[in-house]
Amino acid sequence: MELLAPLEHGLRQLDEKRLRRSRRIAYTPCAPHVTVDDRHMLAFCSNDYLGLAAHPRLVEALREGAARYGVGSGGSHLISGHSRAHALLEERFAEFLATFLEAPRALYFCTGYMANLSVLTALAGPDAELFCEELNHASLIDGARLARANVQVYAHGDVDQLERLLQVRGAKTKVVVTDSVFSMDGHLAPLPQLLELCERYGAWLVVDDAHGFGVLGAHGCGALEHFNLRSSNLVYIGTLGKAAGVSGAFVAAHGTVIEWLLQRARPYIYSTAAPPALAHALLTSLDLISGEEGSQRRAHLQHLIAQLQATLRLRSWKLLLSPTAIQPVIIGSNEEALGAAAALYDRGIWIPAIRPPTIPANTARLRITLSAVHTAADVAQLADTLSALEPLANG
Ligand SMILES: *Cc1c(COP(=O)(O)O)cnc(C)c1O
Repeated sequence: MELLAPLEHGLRQLDEKRLRRSRRIAYTPCAPHVTVDDRHMLAFCSNDYLGLAAHPRLVEALREGAARYGVGSGGSHLISGHSRAHALLEERFAEFLATFLEAPRALYFCTGYMANLSVLTALAGPDAELFCEELNHASLIDGARLARANVQVYAHGDVDQLERLLQVRGAKTKVVVTDSVFSMDGHLAPLPQLLELCERYGAWLVVDDAHGFGVLGAHGCGALEHFNLRSSNLVYIGTLGKAAGVSGAFVAAHGTVIEWLLQRARPYIYSTAAPPALAHALLTSLDLISGEEGSQRRAHLQHLIAQLQATLRLRSWKLLLSPTAIQPVIIGSNEEALGAAAALYDRGIWIPAIRPPTIPANTARLRITLSAVHTAADVAQLADTLSALEPLANG
Protein backbone atom coordinates (compact mmCIF):
# COMPACT_ATOMS: atom_id res chain seq x y z
CA MET A 1 0.00 0.00 0.00
CA GLU A 2 1.27 3.42 -0.98
CA LEU A 3 0.74 5.04 2.42
CA LEU A 4 3.01 2.46 4.04
CA ALA A 5 5.99 3.04 1.72
CA PRO A 6 7.48 6.06 3.54
CA LEU A 7 7.08 4.30 6.89
CA GLU A 8 8.80 1.18 5.57
CA HIS A 9 11.56 3.36 4.16
CA GLY A 10 11.95 5.11 7.54
CA LEU A 11 12.13 1.78 9.36
CA ARG A 12 14.81 0.52 6.96
CA GLN A 13 16.83 3.66 7.66
CA LEU A 14 16.57 3.01 11.39
CA ASP A 15 17.89 -0.51 10.78
CA GLU A 16 20.82 0.82 8.75
CA LYS A 17 21.81 3.19 11.54
CA ARG A 18 21.27 0.48 14.16
CA LEU A 19 18.61 2.68 15.74
CA ARG A 20 15.58 0.40 15.57
CA ARG A 21 14.27 -0.32 19.07
CA SER A 22 12.39 -3.32 20.30
CA ARG A 23 10.89 -4.51 23.55
CA ARG A 24 11.52 -7.53 25.72
CA ILE A 25 8.69 -9.14 27.62
CA ALA A 26 9.07 -9.51 31.39
CA TYR A 27 7.17 -12.41 32.96
CA THR A 28 7.98 -11.60 36.58
CA PRO A 29 7.64 -8.47 38.78
CA CYS A 30 10.21 -5.73 38.50
CA ALA A 31 13.20 -6.99 40.54
CA PRO A 32 16.93 -7.71 40.15
CA HIS A 33 16.23 -11.32 39.18
CA VAL A 34 13.62 -11.51 36.45
CA THR A 35 12.38 -13.77 33.70
CA VAL A 36 12.48 -12.00 30.33
CA ASP A 37 11.64 -13.69 27.04
CA ASP A 38 11.89 -17.09 28.75
CA ARG A 39 15.33 -16.46 30.22
CA HIS A 40 16.38 -15.90 33.79
CA MET A 41 18.32 -12.62 33.96
CA LEU A 42 20.08 -10.39 36.44
CA ALA A 43 18.74 -6.92 35.58
CA PHE A 44 20.41 -3.53 36.05
CA CYS A 45 18.01 -1.43 34.07
CA SER A 46 14.91 -0.48 36.05
CA ASN A 47 14.30 2.86 37.74
CA ASP A 48 12.98 1.05 40.81
CA TYR A 49 15.87 2.49 42.81
CA LEU A 50 14.58 1.54 46.26
CA GLY A 51 13.18 -1.83 45.18
CA LEU A 52 9.62 -0.92 46.14
CA ALA A 53 7.85 -1.91 42.89
CA ALA A 54 7.08 -5.40 44.16
CA HIS A 55 7.20 -4.67 47.90
CA PRO A 56 4.61 -6.85 49.72
CA ARG A 57 3.30 -3.88 51.69
CA LEU A 58 2.66 -1.92 48.50
CA VAL A 59 1.01 -4.89 46.83
CA GLU A 60 -1.25 -5.21 49.87
CA ALA A 61 -1.98 -1.47 49.92
CA LEU A 62 -3.01 -1.58 46.27
CA ARG A 63 -5.33 -4.52 46.97
CA GLU A 64 -6.81 -2.61 49.91
CA GLY A 65 -7.17 0.54 47.78
CA ALA A 66 -9.05 -1.39 45.09
CA ALA A 67 -11.37 -2.93 47.70
CA ARG A 68 -12.06 0.47 49.22
CA TYR A 69 -12.28 2.69 46.12
CA GLY A 70 -12.82 0.32 43.19
CA VAL A 71 -10.64 0.34 40.12
CA GLY A 72 -11.42 3.30 37.88
CA SER A 73 -11.82 6.89 39.04
CA GLY A 74 -14.65 7.41 36.55
CA GLY A 75 -13.84 10.99 35.63
CA SER A 76 -11.41 13.84 35.49
CA HIS A 77 -10.43 15.55 38.74
CA LEU A 78 -12.51 18.67 38.13
CA ILE A 79 -15.69 16.75 37.29
CA SER A 80 -16.10 13.70 39.52
CA GLY A 81 -12.88 11.68 39.61
CA HIS A 82 -11.11 13.35 42.56
CA SER A 83 -11.27 10.83 45.39
CA ARG A 84 -10.41 11.03 49.06
CA ALA A 85 -7.31 8.94 48.32
CA HIS A 86 -6.04 11.60 45.88
CA ALA A 87 -6.79 14.36 48.38
CA LEU A 88 -4.99 12.60 51.24
CA LEU A 89 -1.99 11.91 49.04
CA GLU A 90 -1.71 15.55 47.99
CA GLU A 91 -1.79 16.62 51.64
CA ARG A 92 1.00 14.16 52.43
CA PHE A 93 3.18 15.42 49.57
CA ALA A 94 2.71 19.03 50.66
CA GLU A 95 3.76 18.10 54.21
CA PHE A 96 6.68 16.02 52.96
CA LEU A 97 8.12 18.93 50.98
CA ALA A 98 7.05 21.64 53.46
CA THR A 99 10.59 22.39 54.64
CA PHE A 100 11.66 23.45 51.16
CA LEU A 101 8.76 25.56 49.89
CA GLU A 102 6.70 28.55 51.01
CA ALA A 103 2.98 27.93 51.62
CA PRO A 104 3.25 24.51 49.97
CA ARG A 105 0.48 22.66 48.22
CA ALA A 106 0.73 19.62 45.95
CA LEU A 107 -1.07 18.25 42.92
CA TYR A 108 -1.04 14.57 41.90
CA PHE A 109 -0.75 13.63 38.20
CA CYS A 110 -1.16 10.35 36.28
CA THR A 111 2.40 10.55 34.91
CA GLY A 112 5.51 12.68 35.09
CA TYR A 113 5.16 13.39 31.41
CA MET A 114 1.77 14.99 32.01
CA ALA A 115 3.05 16.90 35.04
CA ASN A 116 5.87 18.39 32.97
CA LEU A 117 3.61 19.37 30.09
CA SER A 118 1.23 20.91 32.60
CA VAL A 119 3.76 22.96 34.53
CA LEU A 120 5.46 24.40 31.47
CA THR A 121 2.30 25.22 29.52
CA ALA A 122 0.60 26.77 32.55
CA LEU A 123 3.59 28.81 33.77
CA ALA A 124 5.22 29.81 30.49
CA GLY A 125 2.74 31.18 27.95
CA PRO A 126 3.60 32.95 24.68
CA ASP A 127 4.78 36.09 26.55
CA ALA A 128 7.19 34.20 28.76
CA GLU A 129 10.86 33.41 28.41
CA LEU A 130 11.75 29.79 29.08
CA PHE A 131 15.36 28.81 29.86
CA CYS A 132 15.98 25.11 29.30
CA GLU A 133 19.02 23.03 30.24
CA GLU A 134 20.45 21.24 27.21
CA LEU A 135 20.12 17.69 28.58
CA ASN A 136 16.56 18.03 29.90
CA HIS A 137 14.23 15.07 29.65
CA ALA A 138 12.11 14.69 26.49
CA SER A 139 8.93 15.52 28.42
CA LEU A 140 10.35 18.94 29.37
CA ILE A 141 11.41 19.57 25.78
CA ASP A 142 7.90 18.72 24.59
CA GLY A 143 6.42 20.87 27.36
CA ALA A 144 8.56 23.80 26.21
CA ARG A 145 7.35 23.36 22.62
CA LEU A 146 3.74 23.13 23.69
CA ALA A 147 4.05 26.20 25.92
CA ARG A 148 4.82 28.38 22.88
CA ALA A 149 7.11 30.49 25.04
CA ASN A 150 10.34 31.97 23.73
CA VAL A 151 12.82 29.17 24.45
CA GLN A 152 16.52 29.64 25.22
CA VAL A 153 18.65 26.52 25.66
CA TYR A 154 21.71 26.78 27.92
CA ALA A 155 24.61 24.31 27.84
CA HIS A 156 24.79 21.43 30.30
CA GLY A 157 25.57 22.78 33.76
CA ASP A 158 26.58 26.20 32.36
CA VAL A 159 25.41 28.60 35.05
CA ASP A 160 27.37 31.52 33.53
CA GLN A 161 25.67 31.17 30.19
CA LEU A 162 22.30 31.04 31.92
CA GLU A 163 23.12 34.25 33.77
CA ARG A 164 24.04 36.03 30.52
CA LEU A 165 20.74 34.90 29.00
CA LEU A 166 18.78 36.04 32.05
CA GLN A 167 20.49 39.45 31.90
CA VAL A 168 19.54 40.24 28.33
CA ARG A 169 16.05 38.78 28.30
CA GLY A 170 13.43 41.24 29.48
CA ALA A 171 10.21 39.21 29.60
CA LYS A 172 8.12 39.67 32.72
CA THR A 173 7.71 35.95 33.26
CA LYS A 174 10.94 33.97 33.28
CA VAL A 175 11.07 30.24 33.90
CA VAL A 176 14.24 28.17 34.27
CA VAL A 177 13.68 24.43 33.95
CA THR A 178 16.07 21.58 34.66
CA ASP A 179 16.31 17.91 35.54
CA SER A 180 17.84 17.60 39.02
CA VAL A 181 19.52 14.28 38.19
CA PHE A 182 20.18 13.85 34.48
CA SER A 183 18.56 10.60 33.54
CA MET A 184 21.24 9.27 31.17
CA ASP A 185 24.32 10.59 33.07
CA GLY A 186 23.40 10.58 36.73
CA HIS A 187 24.95 14.07 37.10
CA LEU A 188 23.33 16.50 39.51
CA ALA A 189 22.32 19.94 38.27
CA PRO A 190 23.97 22.82 40.19
CA LEU A 191 20.67 23.63 41.89
CA PRO A 192 22.00 26.05 44.57
CA GLN A 193 23.58 28.27 41.88
CA LEU A 194 20.53 28.00 39.64
CA LEU A 195 18.23 28.99 42.50
CA GLU A 196 20.44 31.93 43.43
CA LEU A 197 20.21 33.18 39.83
CA CYS A 198 16.46 32.67 39.71
CA GLU A 199 15.95 34.65 42.90
CA ARG A 200 18.22 37.43 41.65
CA TYR A 201 16.52 37.69 38.24
CA GLY A 202 12.96 37.03 39.40
CA ALA A 203 12.55 33.68 37.64
CA TRP A 204 10.77 30.46 38.55
CA LEU A 205 13.00 27.43 39.00
CA VAL A 206 11.19 24.30 37.83
CA VAL A 207 13.00 21.18 39.07
CA ASP A 208 12.21 17.75 37.61
CA ASP A 209 13.38 15.38 40.35
CA ALA A 210 12.34 12.12 38.65
CA HIS A 211 15.58 10.39 39.66
CA GLY A 212 16.15 12.17 42.96
CA PHE A 213 12.82 11.80 44.75
CA GLY A 214 13.05 8.92 47.24
CA VAL A 215 16.79 8.49 46.64
CA LEU A 216 18.46 11.77 47.61
CA GLY A 217 18.30 13.42 51.02
CA ALA A 218 18.34 11.85 54.47
CA HIS A 219 14.55 11.42 54.39
CA GLY A 220 14.30 10.70 50.68
CA CYS A 221 12.72 14.10 49.98
CA GLY A 222 15.00 14.37 46.97
CA ALA A 223 17.22 17.02 45.44
CA LEU A 224 15.91 19.95 47.51
CA GLU A 225 16.77 18.11 50.70
CA HIS A 226 20.14 16.99 49.28
CA PHE A 227 21.12 20.62 48.66
CA ASN A 228 19.10 22.01 51.58
CA LEU A 229 17.24 24.55 49.44
CA ARG A 230 14.18 26.58 50.34
CA SER A 231 12.48 29.18 48.19
CA SER A 232 9.12 30.42 47.00
CA ASN A 233 10.62 30.50 43.45
CA LEU A 234 10.73 26.69 43.38
CA VAL A 235 8.29 24.51 41.47
CA TYR A 236 9.10 20.90 42.30
CA ILE A 237 8.13 17.83 40.27
CA GLY A 238 8.59 14.37 41.78
CA THR A 239 7.69 11.27 39.80
CA LEU A 240 6.25 8.15 41.41
CA GLY A 241 7.01 5.36 38.95
CA LYS A 242 10.69 5.27 39.81
CA ALA A 243 11.93 5.17 43.42
CA ALA A 244 8.36 5.34 44.75
CA GLY A 245 7.66 2.06 42.94
CA VAL A 246 4.13 2.80 41.70
CA SER A 247 3.22 5.36 39.01
CA GLY A 248 2.24 8.99 38.62
CA ALA A 249 3.85 12.25 39.68
CA PHE A 250 3.22 15.28 41.82
CA VAL A 251 3.97 18.95 41.60
CA ALA A 252 4.65 20.82 44.83
CA ALA A 253 4.88 24.61 44.95
CA HIS A 254 3.36 27.69 46.52
CA GLY A 255 -0.39 27.24 46.85
CA THR A 256 -1.08 29.92 44.27
CA VAL A 257 0.98 28.08 41.65
CA ILE A 258 -0.96 24.90 42.32
CA GLU A 259 -4.30 26.73 42.13
CA TRP A 260 -3.20 28.18 38.77
CA LEU A 261 -2.29 24.69 37.48
CA LEU A 262 -5.68 23.44 38.59
CA GLN A 263 -7.36 26.14 36.49
CA ARG A 264 -5.04 26.11 33.49
CA ALA A 265 -3.14 22.84 33.02
CA ARG A 266 -4.88 21.13 30.10
CA PRO A 267 -3.17 17.71 30.47
CA TYR A 268 -4.51 17.69 34.05
CA ILE A 269 -7.98 19.05 33.35
CA TYR A 270 -8.83 16.98 30.28
CA SER A 271 -7.70 13.57 31.42
CA THR A 272 -9.28 10.91 33.61
CA ALA A 273 -7.94 10.85 37.16
CA ALA A 274 -5.63 7.94 37.96
CA PRO A 275 -7.24 5.00 39.81
CA PRO A 276 -7.67 6.06 43.46
CA ALA A 277 -6.19 2.70 44.50
CA LEU A 278 -2.84 3.87 43.12
CA ALA A 279 -3.02 6.99 45.26
CA HIS A 280 -3.89 4.81 48.23
CA ALA A 281 -0.86 2.57 47.58
CA LEU A 282 1.32 5.66 47.23
CA LEU A 283 0.49 6.65 50.82
CA THR A 284 2.24 3.44 51.91
CA SER A 285 5.10 4.11 49.51
CA LEU A 286 5.61 7.51 51.13
CA ASP A 287 5.61 5.86 54.59
CA LEU A 288 8.30 3.43 53.42
CA ILE A 289 10.42 6.14 51.77
CA SER A 290 10.34 8.47 54.78
CA GLY A 291 10.67 5.76 57.44
CA GLU A 292 13.46 3.57 58.80
CA GLU A 293 13.18 1.11 55.93
CA GLY A 294 13.71 3.90 53.41
CA SER A 295 16.86 5.06 55.24
CA GLN A 296 18.24 1.53 55.28
CA ARG A 297 17.51 1.07 51.59
CA ARG A 298 19.19 4.37 50.69
CA ALA A 299 22.25 3.41 52.75
CA HIS A 300 22.49 0.00 51.07
CA LEU A 301 22.16 1.63 47.64
CA GLN A 302 25.10 3.94 48.47
CA HIS A 303 27.19 0.87 49.44
CA LEU A 304 26.41 -0.76 46.10
CA ILE A 305 27.33 2.42 44.20
CA ALA A 306 30.68 2.59 45.99
CA GLN A 307 31.28 -1.12 45.35
CA LEU A 308 30.63 -0.78 41.61
CA GLN A 309 32.86 2.28 41.31
CA ALA A 310 35.66 0.54 43.23
CA THR A 311 35.57 -2.78 41.38
CA LEU A 312 34.75 -2.07 37.74
CA ARG A 313 37.95 -2.16 35.63
CA LEU A 314 37.58 -0.43 32.28
CA ARG A 315 40.11 0.79 29.70
CA SER A 316 38.53 2.88 26.93
CA TRP A 317 34.94 2.56 28.10
CA LYS A 318 34.19 5.03 30.83
CA LEU A 319 32.02 4.82 33.95
CA LEU A 320 30.46 8.21 34.72
CA LEU A 321 30.81 8.87 38.42
CA SER A 322 27.61 9.90 40.10
CA PRO A 323 26.20 9.80 43.62
CA THR A 324 22.94 8.44 42.25
CA ALA A 325 21.66 5.02 41.26
CA ILE A 326 22.40 5.87 37.61
CA GLN A 327 25.91 4.57 36.76
CA PRO A 328 26.32 4.71 32.97
CA VAL A 329 29.23 3.26 31.02
CA ILE A 330 29.97 5.38 27.95
CA ILE A 331 30.98 3.27 24.97
CA GLY A 332 30.67 5.51 21.90
CA SER A 333 29.37 3.91 18.73
CA ASN A 334 25.88 2.45 18.50
CA GLU A 335 27.36 -0.72 17.06
CA GLU A 336 29.77 -1.31 19.92
CA ALA A 337 27.19 -0.45 22.59
CA LEU A 338 24.70 -2.88 21.05
CA GLY A 339 27.45 -5.51 20.89
CA ALA A 340 28.24 -5.01 24.56
CA ALA A 341 24.59 -5.20 25.57
CA ALA A 342 24.14 -8.39 23.53
CA ALA A 343 27.26 -9.98 25.03
CA LEU A 344 26.06 -9.14 28.54
CA TYR A 345 22.66 -10.58 27.72
CA ASP A 346 24.33 -13.83 26.59
CA ARG A 347 26.02 -13.91 29.98
CA GLY A 348 22.72 -13.45 31.83
CA ILE A 349 22.92 -9.71 32.57
CA TRP A 350 20.24 -7.37 31.27
CA ILE A 351 21.35 -3.79 30.55
CA PRO A 352 20.00 -2.26 27.34
CA ALA A 353 22.17 0.01 25.19
CA ILE A 354 20.98 3.62 25.11
CA ARG A 355 21.39 5.31 21.72
CA PRO A 356 20.56 8.65 20.09
CA PRO A 357 18.28 10.56 20.04
CA THR A 358 17.93 9.79 23.76
CA ILE A 359 21.59 10.87 24.12
CA PRO A 360 24.05 12.84 21.89
CA ALA A 361 25.61 11.09 18.87
CA ASN A 362 28.72 8.94 19.53
CA THR A 363 27.98 8.62 23.24
CA ALA A 364 26.02 5.36 23.09
CA ARG A 365 26.13 3.77 26.49
CA LEU A 366 25.08 1.06 28.85
CA ARG A 367 22.81 2.71 31.38
CA ILE A 368 23.45 0.70 34.52
CA THR A 369 20.97 1.38 37.29
CA LEU A 370 21.33 -0.02 40.77
CA SER A 371 18.53 -0.78 43.17
CA ALA A 372 18.43 -1.21 46.93
CA VAL A 373 17.29 -4.80 46.37
CA HIS A 374 20.47 -5.74 44.52
CA THR A 375 22.99 -7.62 46.66
CA ALA A 376 26.75 -7.16 46.86
CA ALA A 377 27.01 -10.51 45.02
CA ASP A 378 24.84 -9.15 42.17
CA VAL A 379 27.10 -6.12 41.80
CA ALA A 380 30.24 -8.28 41.96
CA GLN A 381 28.86 -10.41 39.13
CA LEU A 382 28.20 -7.28 37.07
CA ALA A 383 31.66 -5.80 37.72
CA ASP A 384 33.44 -9.07 36.88
CA THR A 385 31.43 -9.72 33.75
CA LEU A 386 31.69 -6.20 32.37
CA SER A 387 35.40 -5.86 33.19
CA ALA A 388 36.11 -9.11 31.33
CA LEU A 389 33.99 -8.11 28.37
CA GLU A 390 35.65 -4.88 27.24
CA PRO A 391 38.91 -6.39 25.88
CA LEU A 392 36.83 -8.96 23.94
CA ALA A 393 34.55 -6.24 22.51
CA ASN A 394 37.53 -4.15 21.44
CA GLY A 395 39.21 -7.12 19.76
C1 LIG B 1 10.81 9.26 33.69
C2 LIG B 1 10.96 10.74 33.61
C3 LIG B 1 9.86 11.58 33.42
C4 LIG B 1 8.50 11.05 33.08
O1 LIG B 1 7.87 10.50 34.18
P1 LIG B 1 6.76 9.38 33.94
O2 LIG B 1 6.04 9.32 35.22
O3 LIG B 1 7.49 8.13 33.60
O4 LIG B 1 5.90 9.86 32.81
C5 LIG B 1 10.06 12.93 33.48
N1 LIG B 1 11.28 13.46 33.69
C6 LIG B 1 12.37 12.68 33.85
C7 LIG B 1 13.70 13.32 34.07
C8 LIG B 1 12.24 11.30 33.79
O5 LIG B 1 13.32 10.53 33.91
